[in-house]
Amino acid sequence: MPESARTGSSFSGDCRYVFVTGGVVSSLGKGIAASSIGRLLVARGLKVGLLKLDPYINVDPGTMSPYQHGEVFVTEDGAETDLDLGHYERFTDANATRGSNVTAGGIYNSVIRRERRGDYLGGTVQVVPHITDEIKHRILLVAESSDVDVVIVEIGGTVGDIESLPFLEAIRQFPVDVGRRNCMYIHLTLVPYISHAGELKTKPTQHSVNELRRIGIAPDMLICRSESSLSTEIRRKIALFASLPEEAIVSGRDVDNIYKIPLVYHAEGVDRLILDHFGIDTSTPPDLAGWEEITRSAREATQTVRIALVGKYVQLEDAYLSVTESLRHAGFQHNCRIEVDWVNSETLTAQEANSRLSQADGILIPGGFGGRGIEGMIEAARVSRELEIPYLGICLGMQIAVAEFARNVAGMDGANSTEFDLETPYPVIDLLPEQKEVADMGGTMRLGADPVKVHEETVAATIYNEPVIYERHRHRYEVNNLLRRRLEDSGLVISGTSPDDRLVEIVELPEHPFYVASQFHPEFKSRPERPAPLFREFVRAAQLRASDREPDAQASASRSGFDGDTAAGAPSSSPES
Ligand code: GLN
Repeated sequence: MPESARTGSSFSGDCRYVFVTGGVVSSLGKGIAASSIGRLLVARGLKVGLLKLDPYINVDPGTMSPYQHGEVFVTEDGAETDLDLGHYERFTDANATRGSNVTAGGIYNSVIRRERRGDYLGGTVQVVPHITDEIKHRILLVAESSDVDVVIVEIGGTVGDIESLPFLEAIRQFPVDVGRRNCMYIHLTLVPYISHAGELKTKPTQHSVNELRRIGIAPDMLICRSESSLSTEIRRKIALFASLPEEAIVSGRDVDNIYKIPLVYHAEGVDRLILDHFGIDTSTPPDLAGWEEITRSAREATQTVRIALVGKYVQLEDAYLSVTESLRHAGFQHNCRIEVDWVNSETLTAQEANSRLSQADGILIPGGFGGRGIEGMIEAARVSRELEIPYLGICLGMQIAVAEFARNVAGMDGANSTEFDLETPYPVIDLLPEQKEVADMGGTMRLGADPVKVHEETVAATIYNEPVIYERHRHRYEVNNLLRRRLEDSGLVISGTSPDDRLVEIVELPEHPFYVASQFHPEFKSRPERPAPLFREFVRAAQLRASDREPDAQASASRSGFDGDTAAGAPSSSPES
Protein backbone atom coordinates (compact mmCIF):
# COMPACT_ATOMS: atom_id res chain seq x y z
CA MET A 1 0.00 0.00 0.00
CA PRO A 2 1.52 3.39 -0.88
CA GLU A 3 2.01 5.43 2.25
CA SER A 4 -0.21 8.09 0.70
CA ALA A 5 -3.16 5.83 1.29
CA ARG A 6 -2.54 5.89 4.99
CA THR A 7 -5.50 6.17 7.24
CA GLY A 8 -6.00 5.13 10.79
CA SER A 9 -6.84 1.61 9.69
CA SER A 10 -3.85 0.13 11.50
CA PHE A 11 -5.61 0.69 14.82
CA SER A 12 -4.62 -1.73 17.53
CA GLY A 13 -7.92 -2.43 19.20
CA ASP A 14 -7.25 -2.06 22.90
CA CYS A 15 -5.63 1.32 23.21
CA ARG A 16 -7.47 4.39 24.47
CA TYR A 17 -6.69 8.02 23.66
CA VAL A 18 -6.93 11.10 25.85
CA PHE A 19 -6.59 14.38 23.95
CA VAL A 20 -5.63 17.43 25.98
CA THR A 21 -6.34 20.82 24.39
CA GLY A 22 -6.03 24.29 25.85
CA GLY A 23 -8.16 27.38 25.57
CA VAL A 24 -8.47 31.05 26.57
CA VAL A 25 -4.75 31.78 27.07
CA SER A 26 -1.42 30.03 26.68
CA SER A 27 0.82 29.11 29.64
CA LEU A 28 -1.97 27.32 31.52
CA GLY A 29 0.26 24.34 32.21
CA LYS A 30 -1.20 21.92 29.68
CA GLY A 31 1.97 19.83 29.79
CA ILE A 32 1.72 19.47 33.54
CA ALA A 33 -1.99 18.72 33.28
CA ALA A 34 -1.32 15.96 30.73
CA SER A 35 1.53 14.64 32.86
CA SER A 36 -0.60 14.64 36.01
CA ILE A 37 -3.32 12.68 34.23
CA GLY A 38 -0.55 10.31 33.14
CA ARG A 39 0.62 9.90 36.73
CA LEU A 40 -2.90 9.06 37.89
CA LEU A 41 -3.39 6.45 35.18
CA VAL A 42 0.01 4.90 36.00
CA ALA A 43 -1.03 4.88 39.67
CA ARG A 44 -4.11 2.95 38.54
CA GLY A 45 -1.84 0.29 37.03
CA LEU A 46 -2.17 1.35 33.38
CA LYS A 47 0.68 1.66 30.91
CA VAL A 48 0.72 5.16 29.48
CA GLY A 49 2.32 6.71 26.40
CA LEU A 50 2.48 10.45 25.89
CA LEU A 51 2.69 12.52 22.76
CA LYS A 52 3.12 16.26 22.37
CA LEU A 53 1.97 17.78 19.09
CA ASP A 54 3.62 21.17 18.54
CA PRO A 55 2.18 23.52 15.94
CA TYR A 56 5.43 25.29 14.94
CA ILE A 57 7.32 24.70 11.70
CA ASN A 58 10.73 23.82 13.17
CA VAL A 59 11.33 20.12 12.54
CA ASP A 60 12.30 19.80 16.20
CA PRO A 61 13.13 22.33 18.95
CA GLY A 62 16.85 21.42 18.84
CA THR A 63 17.80 24.53 16.87
CA MET A 64 15.68 26.93 18.93
CA SER A 65 17.22 29.32 21.42
CA PRO A 66 16.41 28.53 25.04
CA TYR A 67 15.17 32.14 25.24
CA GLN A 68 12.48 31.29 22.71
CA HIS A 69 11.33 27.96 23.90
CA GLY A 70 12.96 27.06 27.19
CA GLU A 71 15.05 23.97 27.65
CA VAL A 72 15.51 21.36 24.95
CA PHE A 73 14.73 18.03 26.58
CA VAL A 74 16.76 15.06 25.32
CA THR A 75 15.21 11.59 25.28
CA GLU A 76 16.98 8.31 25.87
CA ASP A 77 16.97 7.61 22.12
CA GLY A 78 18.52 10.99 21.36
CA ALA A 79 15.62 13.16 20.21
CA GLU A 80 15.72 16.89 20.98
CA THR A 81 12.23 17.65 22.22
CA ASP A 82 9.93 20.13 23.90
CA LEU A 83 10.45 20.69 27.62
CA ASP A 84 7.01 19.25 28.35
CA LEU A 85 8.47 15.82 27.59
CA GLY A 86 10.55 16.33 30.71
CA HIS A 87 7.36 16.74 32.73
CA TYR A 88 5.92 13.62 31.09
CA GLU A 89 8.94 11.57 32.11
CA ARG A 90 9.14 12.98 35.62
CA PHE A 91 5.43 12.47 36.28
CA THR A 92 4.86 9.10 34.64
CA ASP A 93 8.34 7.65 35.27
CA ALA A 94 8.30 6.29 31.71
CA ASN A 95 10.84 7.20 29.07
CA ALA A 96 9.62 9.23 26.14
CA THR A 97 11.01 8.46 22.70
CA ARG A 98 11.69 10.16 19.38
CA GLY A 99 8.03 9.55 18.49
CA SER A 100 6.75 11.39 21.58
CA ASN A 101 7.16 14.89 20.14
CA VAL A 102 5.84 15.77 16.72
CA THR A 103 5.93 19.27 15.24
CA ALA A 104 4.01 20.68 12.29
CA GLY A 105 7.41 21.05 10.62
CA GLY A 106 8.14 17.36 11.15
CA ILE A 107 4.75 16.39 9.70
CA TYR A 108 5.12 18.63 6.64
CA ASN A 109 8.70 17.43 6.19
CA SER A 110 7.58 13.78 5.87
CA VAL A 111 4.67 14.59 3.59
CA ILE A 112 6.80 16.80 1.33
CA ARG A 113 9.58 14.22 1.18
CA ARG A 114 7.02 11.63 0.10
CA GLU A 115 5.59 14.01 -2.48
CA ARG A 116 9.08 14.56 -3.94
CA ARG A 117 9.55 10.81 -4.17
CA GLY A 118 6.40 10.60 -6.25
CA ASP A 119 4.49 8.53 -3.70
CA TYR A 120 1.26 10.44 -4.28
CA LEU A 121 1.09 9.24 -7.89
CA GLY A 122 0.24 12.61 -9.38
CA GLY A 123 -2.43 13.50 -6.80
CA THR A 124 -2.86 16.93 -5.24
CA VAL A 125 -1.32 16.91 -1.76
CA GLN A 126 -3.55 18.67 0.77
CA VAL A 127 -3.88 19.46 4.47
CA VAL A 128 -6.93 17.19 4.55
CA PRO A 129 -6.37 14.28 4.12
CA HIS A 130 -2.57 14.10 3.72
CA ILE A 131 -1.37 16.21 6.63
CA THR A 132 -4.16 15.03 8.92
CA ASP A 133 -3.54 11.38 7.97
CA GLU A 134 0.14 11.81 8.82
CA ILE A 135 -0.80 13.31 12.22
CA LYS A 136 -3.15 10.40 12.95
CA HIS A 137 -0.47 7.97 11.85
CA ARG A 138 2.01 9.49 14.35
CA ILE A 139 -0.55 9.12 17.16
CA LEU A 140 -1.15 5.48 16.26
CA LEU A 141 2.60 4.87 16.14
CA VAL A 142 2.90 5.78 19.83
CA ALA A 143 0.15 3.28 20.62
CA GLU A 144 1.75 0.53 18.56
CA SER A 145 5.43 1.02 19.24
CA SER A 146 5.19 1.09 23.00
CA ASP A 147 2.35 -1.32 23.67
CA VAL A 148 0.46 1.03 25.99
CA ASP A 149 -3.08 1.01 27.38
CA VAL A 150 -3.64 4.75 27.03
CA VAL A 151 -1.98 7.39 24.84
CA ILE A 152 -2.25 10.93 26.16
CA VAL A 153 -1.94 13.45 23.34
CA GLU A 154 -1.28 17.07 24.21
CA ILE A 155 -2.01 19.58 21.45
CA GLY A 156 0.29 22.57 21.77
CA GLY A 157 -1.03 26.09 21.33
CA THR A 158 -4.47 27.44 22.14
CA VAL A 159 -7.76 26.55 20.47
CA GLY A 160 -8.44 29.29 17.94
CA ASP A 161 -4.81 29.54 16.73
CA ILE A 162 -4.36 29.16 12.99
CA GLU A 163 -1.38 26.86 13.48
CA SER A 164 -3.06 24.16 15.51
CA LEU A 165 -6.04 23.67 13.16
CA PRO A 166 -4.66 20.61 11.29
CA PHE A 167 -3.93 18.92 14.63
CA LEU A 168 -7.43 19.63 15.93
CA GLU A 169 -8.94 18.39 12.68
CA ALA A 170 -6.90 15.19 12.98
CA ILE A 171 -8.09 14.52 16.52
CA ARG A 172 -11.64 15.35 15.49
CA GLN A 173 -11.41 12.60 12.86
CA PHE A 174 -9.69 10.18 15.17
CA PRO A 175 -12.82 8.49 16.64
CA VAL A 176 -13.84 7.50 13.10
CA ASP A 177 -10.88 5.12 13.11
CA VAL A 178 -10.81 3.96 16.72
CA GLY A 179 -14.33 4.52 18.06
CA ARG A 180 -15.68 7.48 20.05
CA ARG A 181 -15.71 5.50 23.27
CA ASN A 182 -11.96 4.99 22.98
CA CYS A 183 -11.35 8.73 22.76
CA MET A 184 -11.67 11.29 25.50
CA TYR A 185 -11.30 15.04 24.99
CA ILE A 186 -10.11 17.07 27.96
CA HIS A 187 -10.02 20.84 27.58
CA LEU A 188 -7.99 23.05 29.88
CA THR A 189 -9.27 26.59 30.33
CA LEU A 190 -8.90 29.59 32.56
CA VAL A 191 -11.56 30.94 34.89
CA PRO A 192 -10.12 34.33 35.79
CA TYR A 193 -10.82 36.24 38.97
CA ILE A 194 -11.84 39.81 38.26
CA SER A 195 -10.93 41.70 41.38
CA HIS A 196 -13.08 44.79 40.97
CA ALA A 197 -16.13 42.57 40.44
CA GLY A 198 -14.91 40.22 43.17
CA GLU A 199 -15.88 37.21 41.02
CA LEU A 200 -14.61 34.32 38.96
CA LYS A 201 -15.70 34.73 35.35
CA THR A 202 -16.85 31.81 33.21
CA LYS A 203 -17.36 33.60 29.88
CA PRO A 204 -13.88 32.93 28.44
CA THR A 205 -14.38 29.22 29.16
CA GLN A 206 -17.78 29.27 27.44
CA HIS A 207 -16.25 30.92 24.37
CA SER A 208 -13.39 28.49 24.27
CA VAL A 209 -15.69 25.46 24.48
CA ASN A 210 -17.79 26.95 21.69
CA GLU A 211 -14.68 27.41 19.56
CA LEU A 212 -13.79 23.76 20.10
CA ARG A 213 -17.33 22.68 19.21
CA ARG A 214 -17.21 24.78 16.05
CA ILE A 215 -14.27 22.61 14.97
CA GLY A 216 -16.37 19.56 15.73
CA ILE A 217 -14.95 18.49 19.08
CA ALA A 218 -17.25 18.22 22.07
CA PRO A 219 -15.11 18.03 25.22
CA ASP A 220 -15.77 15.26 27.75
CA MET A 221 -14.13 17.08 30.63
CA LEU A 222 -13.04 20.62 31.41
CA ILE A 223 -10.17 21.38 33.73
CA CYS A 224 -10.64 24.97 34.81
CA ARG A 225 -7.56 26.75 36.04
CA SER A 226 -8.33 29.35 38.66
CA GLU A 227 -6.77 31.02 41.67
CA SER A 228 -9.10 29.26 44.06
CA SER A 229 -11.46 26.29 43.94
CA LEU A 230 -14.57 26.65 41.83
CA SER A 231 -17.76 27.00 43.83
CA THR A 232 -20.65 24.62 43.15
CA GLU A 233 -22.53 27.47 41.56
CA ILE A 234 -19.71 28.22 39.08
CA ARG A 235 -19.31 24.54 38.26
CA ARG A 236 -23.01 24.24 37.61
CA LYS A 237 -22.98 27.23 35.32
CA ILE A 238 -20.02 25.94 33.28
CA ALA A 239 -21.53 22.45 33.14
CA LEU A 240 -24.78 23.84 31.76
CA PHE A 241 -23.07 25.78 28.99
CA ALA A 242 -20.70 22.94 28.13
CA SER A 243 -23.48 20.29 28.14
CA LEU A 244 -21.51 18.23 30.64
CA PRO A 245 -22.35 16.71 34.01
CA GLU A 246 -21.12 18.82 36.91
CA GLU A 247 -18.56 16.25 37.97
CA ALA A 248 -16.82 16.68 34.59
CA ILE A 249 -16.00 20.29 35.48
CA VAL A 250 -12.74 19.95 37.34
CA SER A 251 -11.29 22.68 39.48
CA GLY A 252 -7.60 23.09 38.69
CA ARG A 253 -6.82 25.54 41.43
CA ASP A 254 -3.42 27.14 41.91
CA VAL A 255 -1.02 25.18 44.10
CA ASP A 256 2.48 25.99 45.31
CA ASN A 257 4.12 22.74 44.14
CA ILE A 258 3.50 21.10 40.75
CA TYR A 259 3.88 17.64 42.26
CA LYS A 260 0.65 18.20 44.19
CA ILE A 261 -1.38 18.39 41.00
CA PRO A 262 -1.96 14.65 40.53
CA LEU A 263 -3.25 14.58 44.12
CA VAL A 264 -5.53 17.56 43.49
CA TYR A 265 -6.87 15.93 40.32
CA HIS A 266 -7.44 12.68 42.14
CA ALA A 267 -9.42 14.47 44.83
CA GLU A 268 -11.50 16.00 42.02
CA GLY A 269 -12.24 12.55 40.63
CA VAL A 270 -10.30 12.92 37.37
CA ASP A 271 -8.91 9.37 37.22
CA ARG A 272 -12.26 7.82 38.07
CA LEU A 273 -14.01 9.85 35.36
CA ILE A 274 -11.44 8.83 32.75
CA LEU A 275 -11.65 5.15 33.64
CA ASP A 276 -15.45 5.32 33.68
CA HIS A 277 -15.42 6.92 30.25
CA PHE A 278 -13.29 4.08 28.91
CA GLY A 279 -15.26 1.42 30.75
CA ILE A 280 -12.20 0.36 32.78
CA ASP A 281 -12.73 -1.06 36.26
CA THR A 282 -12.19 1.54 39.00
CA SER A 283 -12.44 -0.70 42.06
CA THR A 284 -8.71 -0.62 42.90
CA PRO A 285 -7.71 2.80 44.23
CA PRO A 286 -4.59 4.42 42.79
CA ASP A 287 -1.27 4.02 44.56
CA LEU A 288 -0.16 7.58 45.26
CA ALA A 289 1.82 6.96 48.46
CA GLY A 290 5.14 8.01 46.92
CA TRP A 291 3.65 11.28 45.71
CA GLU A 292 2.08 12.03 49.02
CA GLU A 293 5.49 11.50 50.57
CA ILE A 294 7.17 13.93 48.16
CA THR A 295 4.65 16.66 48.82
CA ARG A 296 4.89 16.05 52.56
CA SER A 297 8.66 16.41 52.43
CA ALA A 298 8.36 19.62 50.41
CA ARG A 299 5.82 21.03 52.85
CA GLU A 300 7.72 20.17 56.00
CA ALA A 301 11.25 21.07 54.91
CA THR A 302 12.64 23.87 57.03
CA GLN A 303 16.29 24.04 56.08
CA THR A 304 17.12 26.11 53.01
CA VAL A 305 20.02 25.18 50.78
CA ARG A 306 21.23 27.93 48.46
CA ILE A 307 22.42 26.92 45.05
CA ALA A 308 24.03 29.49 42.77
CA LEU A 309 23.12 28.57 39.20
CA VAL A 310 25.60 30.31 36.94
CA GLY A 311 24.59 30.53 33.29
CA LYS A 312 23.75 32.92 30.53
CA TYR A 313 20.08 32.12 30.02
CA VAL A 314 19.11 32.93 33.61
CA GLN A 315 16.45 35.49 32.62
CA LEU A 316 14.24 32.62 31.47
CA GLU A 317 14.16 30.01 34.21
CA ASP A 318 12.54 27.47 31.87
CA ALA A 319 15.87 27.34 30.02
CA TYR A 320 17.15 25.18 32.88
CA LEU A 321 13.90 23.46 33.81
CA SER A 322 15.16 19.90 34.24
CA VAL A 323 18.12 21.18 36.25
CA THR A 324 15.97 23.05 38.75
CA GLU A 325 13.50 20.16 38.95
CA SER A 326 16.39 17.77 39.67
CA LEU A 327 17.58 20.05 42.47
CA ARG A 328 14.09 19.97 43.93
CA HIS A 329 13.99 16.16 43.69
CA ALA A 330 17.23 16.02 45.68
CA GLY A 331 15.69 18.49 48.14
CA PHE A 332 12.68 16.17 48.62
CA GLN A 333 15.08 13.36 49.45
CA HIS A 334 17.12 15.39 51.95
CA ASN A 335 14.15 17.27 53.43
CA CYS A 336 15.43 20.68 52.45
CA ARG A 337 14.20 23.56 50.37
CA ILE A 338 16.30 24.64 47.45
CA GLU A 339 16.74 28.35 46.90
CA VAL A 340 18.24 29.10 43.51
CA ASP A 341 20.37 32.21 43.13
CA TRP A 342 20.27 32.92 39.38
CA VAL A 343 23.68 34.30 38.50
CA ASN A 344 24.16 35.82 35.06
CA SER A 345 27.60 34.69 33.93
CA GLU A 346 27.82 37.41 31.28
CA THR A 347 28.20 40.11 33.91
CA LEU A 348 29.94 38.09 36.61
CA THR A 349 33.35 39.57 37.43
CA ALA A 350 36.08 37.88 39.49
CA GLN A 351 35.29 40.21 42.38
CA GLU A 352 31.54 39.55 42.33
CA ALA A 353 32.21 35.83 41.98
CA ASN A 354 34.26 35.96 45.17
CA SER A 355 31.70 37.88 47.19
CA ARG A 356 28.35 36.59 45.87
CA LEU A 357 29.27 32.96 45.32
CA SER A 358 30.94 32.57 48.70
CA GLN A 359 27.41 32.91 50.12
CA ALA A 360 26.24 29.85 48.19
CA ASP A 361 26.06 26.34 49.59
CA GLY A 362 26.63 24.91 46.13
CA ILE A 363 27.57 26.19 42.69
CA LEU A 364 26.08 24.67 39.58
CA ILE A 365 27.11 25.40 36.00
CA PRO A 366 24.65 23.85 33.57
CA GLY A 367 24.88 23.20 29.82
CA GLY A 368 25.13 25.89 27.18
CA PHE A 369 26.42 26.88 23.77
CA GLY A 370 28.47 29.76 22.40
CA GLY A 371 31.11 32.04 23.89
CA ARG A 372 29.03 34.61 25.78
CA GLY A 373 29.45 34.49 29.53
CA ILE A 374 32.24 31.92 29.50
CA GLU A 375 34.74 33.96 31.53
CA GLY A 376 32.15 34.50 34.28
CA MET A 377 31.64 30.74 34.46
CA ILE A 378 35.40 30.20 34.70
CA GLU A 379 35.44 32.57 37.69
CA ALA A 380 32.58 30.64 39.29
CA ALA A 381 34.44 27.33 38.88
CA ARG A 382 37.57 28.93 40.36
CA VAL A 383 35.66 30.20 43.40
CA SER A 384 34.13 26.81 44.10
CA ARG A 385 37.50 25.08 43.76
CA GLU A 386 39.39 27.60 45.88
CA LEU A 387 36.74 28.12 48.56
CA GLU A 388 35.77 24.45 48.65
CA ILE A 389 32.14 25.14 47.80
CA PRO A 390 30.38 22.05 46.38
CA TYR A 391 30.41 22.15 42.58
CA LEU A 392 28.31 20.38 39.99
CA GLY A 393 29.21 20.98 36.36
CA ILE A 394 26.99 19.69 33.60
CA CYS A 395 28.22 19.37 30.02
CA LEU A 396 29.45 22.94 29.39
CA GLY A 397 29.90 23.06 33.18
CA MET A 398 32.37 20.19 32.93
CA GLN A 399 34.23 21.82 30.06
CA ILE A 400 34.48 25.02 32.11
CA ALA A 401 35.82 23.07 35.10
CA VAL A 402 38.49 21.51 32.89
CA ALA A 403 39.50 24.85 31.34
CA GLU A 404 39.66 26.54 34.75
CA PHE A 405 41.76 23.74 36.19
CA ALA A 406 44.06 23.81 33.16
CA ARG A 407 44.59 27.57 33.46
CA ASN A 408 44.92 27.96 37.19
CA VAL A 409 46.31 24.63 38.42
CA ALA A 410 47.98 22.86 35.49
CA GLY A 411 49.81 25.98 34.29
CA MET A 412 48.19 26.07 30.87
CA ASP A 413 47.71 29.80 30.57
CA GLY A 414 44.87 30.75 28.21
CA ALA A 415 43.48 27.20 28.08
CA ASN A 416 40.03 27.12 26.54
CA SER A 417 37.57 25.21 24.41
CA THR A 418 37.97 25.73 20.66
CA GLU A 419 34.23 26.45 20.65
CA PHE A 420 35.13 29.82 22.19
CA ASP A 421 38.71 30.45 21.14
CA LEU A 422 40.14 28.84 18.02
CA GLU A 423 43.58 30.33 18.75
CA THR A 424 43.93 29.09 22.31
CA PRO A 425 47.43 27.74 23.07
CA TYR A 426 45.86 24.92 25.10
CA PRO A 427 42.69 23.58 23.43
CA VAL A 428 41.71 21.40 26.40
CA ILE A 429 38.23 21.00 24.90
CA ASP A 430 38.04 20.36 21.17
CA LEU A 431 35.91 18.84 18.44
CA LEU A 432 36.35 15.19 17.68
CA PRO A 433 37.75 14.67 14.18
CA GLU A 434 34.42 13.25 12.95
CA GLN A 435 32.49 16.35 14.16
CA LYS A 436 34.79 18.70 12.22
CA GLU A 437 33.16 17.62 8.95
CA VAL A 438 29.59 18.33 10.10
CA ALA A 439 27.92 21.41 8.55
CA ASP A 440 24.21 21.06 9.51
CA MET A 441 23.08 22.38 12.90
CA GLY A 442 19.94 20.26 13.46
CA GLY A 443 20.31 16.85 15.11
CA THR A 444 24.05 16.53 14.45
CA MET A 445 25.42 16.53 18.00
CA ARG A 446 26.21 13.55 20.13
CA LEU A 447 22.69 12.90 21.38
CA GLY A 448 20.97 10.48 23.72
CA ALA A 449 21.99 7.78 26.15
CA ASP A 450 25.45 6.24 25.93
CA PRO A 451 27.27 3.94 28.32
CA VAL A 452 29.71 5.52 30.77
CA LYS A 453 32.39 3.45 32.49
CA VAL A 454 32.75 4.63 36.09
CA HIS A 455 36.32 4.29 37.34
CA GLU A 456 36.92 2.45 40.60
CA GLU A 457 37.82 4.20 43.83
CA THR A 458 36.51 7.59 42.78
CA VAL A 459 33.76 9.82 44.11
CA ALA A 460 31.73 8.94 41.02
CA ALA A 461 32.06 5.22 41.82
CA THR A 462 30.72 5.82 45.34
CA ILE A 463 27.86 7.91 43.99
CA TYR A 464 26.74 5.54 41.25
CA ASN A 465 27.77 2.26 42.82
CA GLU A 466 27.68 0.64 39.38
CA PRO A 467 30.55 0.00 36.95
CA VAL A 468 28.60 1.11 33.88
CA ILE A 469 25.83 3.68 33.77
CA TYR A 470 23.73 5.08 30.92
CA GLU A 471 23.33 8.82 30.73
CA ARG A 472 22.04 11.23 28.10
CA HIS A 473 24.23 13.52 26.03
CA ARG A 474 23.83 16.63 23.93
CA HIS A 475 27.12 18.14 22.88
CA ARG A 476 29.76 18.42 20.17
CA TYR A 477 32.99 19.12 22.04
CA GLU A 478 35.08 16.70 24.14
CA VAL A 479 38.09 16.79 26.44
CA ASN A 480 41.16 16.82 24.22
CA ASN A 481 42.99 13.51 24.61
CA LEU A 482 46.31 15.16 23.71
CA LEU A 483 46.19 17.26 26.89
CA ARG A 484 44.43 14.75 29.13
CA ARG A 485 47.59 13.31 30.64
CA ARG A 486 48.88 16.71 31.62
CA LEU A 487 45.60 17.52 33.40
CA GLU A 488 45.70 14.22 35.26
CA ASP A 489 49.32 14.73 36.27
CA SER A 490 48.28 18.03 37.88
CA GLY A 491 45.61 16.30 39.96
CA LEU A 492 42.38 16.30 37.93
CA VAL A 493 40.76 12.89 38.34
CA ILE A 494 38.99 11.44 35.34
CA SER A 495 36.44 9.23 37.01
CA GLY A 496 34.23 8.31 34.06
CA THR A 497 34.92 7.63 30.40
CA SER A 498 33.28 5.97 27.44
CA PRO A 499 33.86 2.20 27.67
CA ASP A 500 36.70 2.48 25.11
CA ASP A 501 38.32 5.26 27.23
CA ARG A 502 38.28 7.63 24.29
CA LEU A 503 35.79 10.17 25.66
CA VAL A 504 35.99 11.80 29.09
CA GLU A 505 32.63 11.61 30.82
CA ILE A 506 33.22 12.61 34.47
CA VAL A 507 35.95 14.63 36.16
CA GLU A 508 36.41 15.32 39.86
CA LEU A 509 38.76 16.85 42.39
CA PRO A 510 39.67 14.49 45.23
CA GLU A 511 40.66 16.97 47.95
CA HIS A 512 37.39 18.88 47.84
CA PRO A 513 34.08 18.44 49.71
CA PHE A 514 32.33 17.84 46.35
CA TYR A 515 33.66 18.80 42.97
CA VAL A 516 32.19 16.61 40.25
CA ALA A 517 31.35 17.46 36.66
CA SER A 518 29.92 15.35 33.88
CA GLN A 519 29.92 15.62 30.10
CA PHE A 520 26.45 14.06 30.13
CA HIS A 521 23.22 15.60 31.44
CA PRO A 522 22.11 13.78 34.60
CA GLU A 523 19.09 16.11 34.91
CA PHE A 524 17.21 14.35 32.12
CA LYS A 525 16.87 11.15 34.14
CA SER A 526 15.97 12.59 37.53
CA ARG A 527 12.58 11.69 38.99
CA PRO A 528 10.81 13.22 41.99
CA GLU A 529 10.91 9.92 43.83
CA ARG A 530 14.40 9.04 42.57
CA PRO A 531 16.72 12.03 42.22
CA ALA A 532 19.61 11.69 39.77
CA PRO A 533 22.62 10.42 41.77
CA LEU A 534 24.86 13.42 40.96
CA PHE A 535 22.17 15.86 42.06
CA ARG A 536 21.40 13.81 45.15
CA GLU A 537 25.02 13.90 46.34
CA PHE A 538 25.65 17.49 45.25
CA VAL A 539 22.68 18.67 47.31
CA ARG A 540 23.78 16.48 50.21
CA ALA A 541 27.20 18.19 50.18
CA ALA A 542 25.58 21.61 49.84
CA GLN A 543 23.27 20.81 52.73
CA LEU A 544 26.27 19.99 54.91
CA ARG A 545 27.72 23.39 54.09
CA ALA A 546 24.35 25.00 54.87
CA SER A 547 24.32 23.27 58.25
CA ASP A 548 27.82 24.57 58.97
CA ARG A 549 26.54 28.11 58.67
CA GLU A 550 23.47 27.10 60.70
CA PRO A 551 22.42 30.55 62.00
CA ASP A 552 22.44 31.94 58.45
CA ALA A 553 20.69 28.89 57.11
CA GLN A 554 17.91 29.22 59.62
CA ALA A 555 17.49 32.91 58.90
CA SER A 556 17.30 32.10 55.22
CA ALA A 557 14.85 29.28 55.82
CA SER A 558 12.42 31.73 57.32
CA ARG A 559 12.63 34.01 54.30
CA SER A 560 10.28 33.18 51.50
CA GLY A 561 12.70 31.38 49.26
CA PHE A 562 12.50 29.45 46.06
CA ASP A 563 9.67 27.01 45.88
CA GLY A 564 9.72 26.54 42.18
CA ASP A 565 6.18 27.28 41.16
CA THR A 566 4.04 30.29 40.84
CA ALA A 567 0.57 29.12 40.11
CA ALA A 568 -1.24 25.87 39.70
CA GLY A 569 1.86 24.14 38.70
CA ALA A 570 2.20 26.11 35.51
CA PRO A 571 5.78 27.19 35.11
CA SER A 572 5.02 30.89 34.83
CA SER A 573 7.08 31.44 31.75
CA SER A 574 6.41 28.22 29.88
CA PRO A 575 6.13 29.40 26.30
CA GLU A 576 3.76 26.73 25.05
CA SER A 577 1.64 25.13 27.63
N1 GLN B 1 28.68 23.68 23.85
C1 GLN B 1 29.26 22.49 24.40
C2 GLN B 1 29.39 21.39 23.37
O1 GLN B 1 28.74 21.42 22.34
C3 GLN B 1 28.45 22.01 25.60
C4 GLN B 1 27.07 21.56 25.22
C5 GLN B 1 26.13 21.48 26.39
O2 GLN B 1 26.42 22.00 27.47
N2 GLN B 1 24.98 20.87 26.21
O3 GLN B 1 30.12 20.46 23.57
